[in-house]
Amino acid sequence: MVLHVAVDVKRLSELGKKYPWPRPKRCLACKSPRVWGHGHVQRYFEGFVHPLWIRRLRCPDCRTVYTLRPDLFYQGFQYSLMTILSSLLARIMDHCWLSYIPRQNQQYWYKGLKLQAFRLRNVPAPDRDTMEEIISLGFIPSSHSLNCAMLRL
Ligand SMILES: [Zn+2]
Repeated sequence: MVLHVAVDVKRLSELGKKYPWPRPKRCLACKSPRVWGHGHVQRYFEGFVHPLWIRRLRCPDCRTVYTLRPDLFYQGFQYSLMTILSSLLARIMDHCWLSYIPRQNQQYWYKGLKLQAFRLRNVPAPDRDTMEEIISLGFIPSSHSLNCAMLRL
């Protein structure tokens, strides 16, 4: 289970595994108060040459494993939230792609947005209002998954 949490990614890159990650007081699956550390995994993020150490937690009672994730980055996306939303807005408002991001990535994000807009509002060409509604409902606008609600701590 991926949990999006507020993280200072600059500090995280400096502290590595010593970064003080926030953790849930209770397991989100079974409400157990015991949520233990479960090592780290490395992930790449936009703006950092080296992968960052990401905390994992585990509930010993129901065995749910949590991977914490900076909430500025969507699950499965290496580019930051700001970059993805800027790209989608450029596509919606100006019908163009951002010049400094590979077009393939942006086409993939836009395809995700079209999928989410169609699922939510049955509209084939999403506009700005539709995108904002998708975000305000807690969904990831660029996701190709039908189960893409963000879990936040
Ligand atoms: Zn549990």
